[in-house]
Amino acid sequence: MICIPITARSTEETISEMASASKHADIIELRIDYIPELQNALTCIEKSLKSTTKPLIITNRPEREGGKFNGSEQDRLSLLQRAIELEADYVDIEYDSIKQINRRNSSKIIISYHDFKETPHNLGRIYSDICQHKPDIVKIVTYANDITDNIRIFELLKSAKVPTISFCMGELGHISRILTKKFGGILTFATLEKGKESAPGQLTVKELSEIYHFKEINRETNLYGIIGNPVSHSMSPAIHNAAFIEKGLNSVYVPLKIANIGSFMKECRKIDFHGFSITIPHKESVLPFLDGIDQTAEKIGAINTLVKQNRKFTGYNTDCMAAVIGLECSLKKNNDTLNNKKVSIIGAGGAARAIAFGLKEKGCDITIFNRTLKRAEKLSYDVKCKFASLEEIHKYDSEILINTTSIGMFPDVDHTPVPKNILKESMVVFDVIYNPIETRLLRNAKEKGCHTVNGLSMFINQAAEQFRLWTNIEPPIELMTKVVKGIL
Ligand code: NAP
Repeated sequence: MICIPITARSTEETISEMASASKHADIIELRIDYIPELQNALTCIEKSLKSTTKPLIITNRPEREGGKFNGSEQDRLSLLQRAIELEADYVDIEYDSIKQINRRNSSKIIISYHDFKETPHNLGRIYSDICQHKPDIVKIVTYANDITDNIRIFELLKSAKVPTISFCMGELGHISRILTKKFGGILTFATLEKGKESAPGQLTVKELSEIYHFKEINRETNLYGIIGNPVSHSMSPAIHNAAFIEKGLNSVYVPLKIANIGSFMKECRKIDFHGFSITIPHKESVLPFLDGIDQTAEKIGAINTLVKQNRKFTGYNTDCMAAVIGLECSLKKNNDTLNNKKVSIIGAGGAARAIAFGLKEKGCDITIFNRTLKRAEKLSYDVKCKFASLEEIHKYDSEILINTTSIGMFPDVDHTPVPKNILKESMVVFDVIYNPIETRLLRNAKEKGCHTVNGLSMFINQAAEQFRLWTNIEPPIELMTKVVKGIL
């Protein structure tokens, strides 16, 4: 179920927001601690209960548990007691106040525990202490300081004996808000719009429904995700989730902001992840934690995909073939091929590695240009090609010029890795950046009459190949392209 909290400051505003929330929510939480003045709060409870079309949770959170109520404890509890007398569907009582509440009538009691600083290590103990008070529903909400805190919440949910609401707050807690149903959690909270969050890290109803298809998630849903840091702006969740739905697969893909790759790769085996995309900065740092690696990926020395089979994670690099296919398709339009072309690659990072190895196999004559010369030297040694410093690029004659650095990427869209005067009409210019789709480099190249290739096809192809590796199903490339273009 999706619960939308109402944090309005008056009864009128509350009733109006409840009407909007009713269109999307299965249940509504009335946060009466946001209503100033005791009498106003009382009126708000009475009128809301009369006018609601959805089940209501009445909550009056004190400041000590992250709420807004700053009156006396007696006044706070009197409002909750009144909600019980009025037979509200659900009343949320903090664990440390439960003994002071008289539980007559039909209201279901949620006994809640919040920790805004961390996810404590004695979650099991907290859970059993709450259960001693015979809750109808247990609610344990903590703060995630590391992605693995969510995994402890999932383990708690898996062993729950009573209907339970549990997830982590904060940006790192997003996955437990999205995946709670998979592990048995009965509801998640989502805000109607940005800026109306009642707790840190709440997603909007739109995000939950349109990107993660929250209502379709169940205990059988297969889990996938993108490992990186940062990942909040990644387009991969939107693309892969749309593809899963299009192909009728019961799977969901979530962003995983990982600081410590080693500890995540150990802990993630406790829950059933089927595969991952890997992005900056973990494409190389993840290698020691794999059970196996595909031959091409091993040669490249970096992966962007993990596939789990028989409990073992194998690494793949789909960037390599995605770049080669993208370039080949584009050249084919001019009846041209990659064979034996002179190629200048700017950059010596993960993308450059994948592309250089791919083009070497096509017989290209490659030179690597990089700001940090040592890195260019290392890559050229591994690929068996030439290298030079970026300042020297004008001295080299190339048929294909490829930018693999982030120069020109949003928001620095006016930057370009090379001056316009080194571009020649006969060149093919490929920029791996896809945001913006047309970079300053590509604009300059077009003005010089060059054939240009943007990073979009590489991006789509690497995601499509991941989808194929995970599912053995032909990816819906047209839809994936439409999703990316829509976002961009
Ligand atoms: P990376 O491993 O961190 O490498 C970054 C490269 O860019 C390094 O060679 C670095 O040079 C160079 N660089 C960065 N800022 C620079 C600057 N201000 N001046 C000169 N050189 C600079 O990153 P990556 O994984 O290769 O990704 C690089 C870009 O490719 C990103 O924009 C990413 O979004 C894009 N990408 C696109 C696709 C796609 O599917 N289209 C796939 C993968 C990556 P130093 O060695 O001197 O630091």
